[in-house]
Amino acid sequence: MAMYVYDFIEGNKDLKDLLGGKGANLAEMTRMGLPVPPGFTITTEACREYLRTNSVPAGLLAEVEHHLRQMQARIGRTFGDPRDPLLLSVRSGAKFSMPGMMETILDIGLNDATVSGLAKQSGDDRFAWDSYRRLIQMFGRTVFDIPAGEFEGGDDPRELVEAYKKVFQAHTGREFPQAVHEQLFLAINAVFRSWNAERAVLYRRQERIPQDLGTAVNVMAMVFGNRGEDSGTGVAFTRDPATGRRGSYGDYLRNAQGEDVVAGIRNTMSLAELATVDPASYGQLLSIMQRLEQRYRDLCDIEFTIENGKLWMLQTRVGKRTPAAAFVIAAQLVDEGTITLDEALHRVTGEQLAQLMFPSFDDATAPPPLTTGVPASPGAAVGAIVFDSAAAAAATGPVILVRRETNPDDLPGMIAAQGILTSRGGKTSHAAVVARGMGKTCVCGAEELRLDGDTLVVGGRTLHAGDIISIDGTNGRVYAGEVPVHPSKVVRYFEGQLTAHGDPLLSAIERLMIHADHTARLDVHANADNGPDAARARRFGATGVGLCRTEHMFLGDRRVLVERLILAENDNDRDAALAGLLPLQRKDFEELFTAMDGLPVTIRLIDPPLHEFLPSLEELTARVARAEALGEDPGRDGVLLAAVRRMHEQNPMLGLRGVRLGLVVPGLFAMQVRAVAEAAAARKAAGGDPRPEIMVPLVGAIQELEIVRAEAESVLASVPGAPPIRIGTMIEVPRAALTAGQIAGAAEFFSFGTNDLTQMTWGFSRDDVEGAFFGRYLELGVFAASPFESIDADGVGELVRIAVARGRAVRPELTVGVCGEHGGDPASVRFFHDAGLDYVSCSPFRVPIARLEAGRAALTGATGSDSR
Ligand code: PEP
Ligand code: MG
Repeated sequence: MAMYVYDFIEGNKDLKDLLGGKGANLAEMTRMGLPVPPGFTITTEACREYLRTNSVPAGLLAEVEHHLRQMQARIGRTFGDPRDPLLLSVRSGAKFSMPGMMETILDIGLNDATVSGLAKQSGDDRFAWDSYRRLIQMFGRTVFDIPAGEFEGGDDPRELVEAYKKVFQAHTGREFPQAVHEQLFLAINAVFRSWNAERAVLYRRQERIPQDLGTAVNVMAMVFGNRGEDSGTGVAFTRDPATGRRGSYGDYLRNAQGEDVVAGIRNTMSLAELATVDPASYGQLLSIMQRLEQRYRDLCDIEFTIENGKLWMLQTRVGKRTPAAAFVIAAQLVDEGTITLDEALHRVTGEQLAQLMFPSFDDATAPPPLTTGVPASPGAAVGAIVFDSAAAAAATGPVILVRRETNPDDLPGMIAAQGILTSRGGKTSHAAVVARGMGKTCVCGAEELRLDGDTLVVGGRTLHAGDIISIDGTNGRVYAGEVPVHPSKVVRYFEGQLTAHGDPLLSAIERLMIHADHTARLDVHANADNGPDAARARRFGATGVGLCRTEHMFLGDRRVLVERLILAENDNDRDAALAGLLPLQRKDFEELFTAMDGLPVTIRLIDPPLHEFLPSLEELTARVARAEALGEDPGRDGVLLAAVRRMHEQNPMLGLRGVRLGLVVPGLFAMQVRAVAEAAAARKAAGGDPRPEIMVPLVGAIQELEIVRAEAESVLASVPGAPPIRIGTMIEVPRAALTAGQIAGAAEFFSFGTNDLTQMTWGFSRDDVEGAFFGRYLELGVFAASPFESIDADGVGELVRIAVARGRAVRPELTVGVCGEHGGDPASVRFFHDAGLDYVSCSPFRVPIARLEAGRAALTGATGSDSR
């Protein structure tokens, strides 16, 4: 028979799959001999079984009773005893932390009889009745879905108990259960069910946590932080989760229950102040924190309660942290000899580095702030004020969600907003914890804000919904209007404008980037179309240009030349247009080769349909119609309109573009190939080391490539002094992937164009679908992330694997890379590593992120520390 219940003493920290994070860590602390209230954990397996069958698994209740009896014997108190009742908390706890998304019920075991026992034992009548009041409220809300607003406030807890019982009866048609075992079982059921609460499902989708894990349920003896001034509750971190600085950090709230701190409802004192309030507990807490760090080899966060001067540990886990803290702590732990560099690299992510590269406000030009709150999650966010989650979710432009405090129901709005601003709560409030997890800018506890319906009053100013504000999650400042932003110091470091010396964050990044480069097997190239972008990419660590989109060179004042080419009515006109473009292209390429001297530069021949270089059909039609209405000659517009009509395509993405264009417009590709060869010859003559490669886009059949190749080779042969230039193809049409074995016969390299490959594999128009229905698809769970953002490993990825295998089977030395947007996406980089590619190519700003992930992908056997 399955074992569904584990006493805390039976588990350990490595059993997260079975006991959830909270249960596994309570077990670990119990084994360490730390003061954890006795209790037991019901496994995630029991939850999965419950969700599958919609009923409590056979044998579970008997196991719970058995463990409860053991607990009673150990504590010397009995559940439901009217003289001296044992009270229980029932808490959810999944493998990955989902702050506040699921349910917790406290004070189980109170009823009309036991409340008097608690009053007598505690000598505090008010405390006992207030606990009973809390139970009816939490139980009603959680087990029977009674809306929170139904339970109105009041002063006398006895009266509140009576009033709440009536609310309970009115909503459920039954009395509040007096049988304590029934209370417990209903609570366990409710926690199981809360796994599938809407907000929990949404949170998991957002955080990419699998939906089928289920939650464990922790049943623990109650300890009370609300027993008077020598009691309280707090949250602590073994290092600063914002900056990574060494030392203990946290918040403490006197005479309160844990839920009051996490909800950010009341304002707290700092952990340091606890040293004066209760030096003994403080000292004990510090030494426990040190032991936890040693045990977990990482930053830990802790929830604790002090009951009449006695310290109890209610939770610990490897703590969430800001991206900056992640780098700083990883490097510190290497310095302290706790972890290896490989482990340190495992503990930081490309997403975190991306966050650090976001711009921030320029303090020098910022106006005086309206107010300053708690800097809870870094970044600079500008947007229009919205006062509720629904408005944030519905907004089309950037918004800042402004709330007194947030609760789990605000999740959709928090996801939609650029940033979150609250007037209450500290660094451990719901808003702060969730925003940090999402990497979203958040300022909380800005207490000077007065929120009143649709207005926000601060410092004598009144702001309304729709007014623009700016918030800075790094220093907590809140500004009226739009504050200009400036580049992050991490970007300035990569640019070479700052040195890492003396800066803990930059030094940590430098160290881990060096290690990543050392470990990585994938090279990182950049998508760059001009000298400055290529030079930046090189500063950011790119070792080549993986994609130069030459059509980007045909814009601006060169457009007229392209127009002439398109409108050419005979060979002479066309040749003249091409001759005009040639020197311009040559100069472009010379710049690129100079910036990437000594490194490969992959030049892609022109890709998009030519009519993209002409004015729009609507615009021209209107201009010609206007001229005709005025009796004027539409002149050139008339000719253009005819050309645009002639070339108009219903599906231009699937039309005359890429190699097809090269085969249809004589001389176009030849001109580009000549420009490449002449530019390379010129650079060589000037003492440079140009390494161009020519890449043919949108090939679907070997025949297409062979024709272009033959033409290109004859052009290359005619340019004296050019270095050897390899010719390869993009693989971005599914047919090319499937026939890669044939295509490799005419290609020296492949570069996966995963933008088009995704578009054509899914049949999703890349220009239309993301705005049109991807929101719904994400909601429905069709995919966890847009396949245009993160590679669809099962579908598009399979084509990549097929093409690599078939291509290399024919040509073992084939170089294979990727230049779609996925080349800079952390999860995709790991996929490309596993698929055996040689390099990824991405936008210059993502180069450091890809480098870091390429290094991480190559790590073998290092154990990370999953702080989710
Ligand atoms: C691609 O399709 O992935 C690609 C890099 O080409 P483009 O985005 O220019 O179509
Ligand atoms: Mg493409």
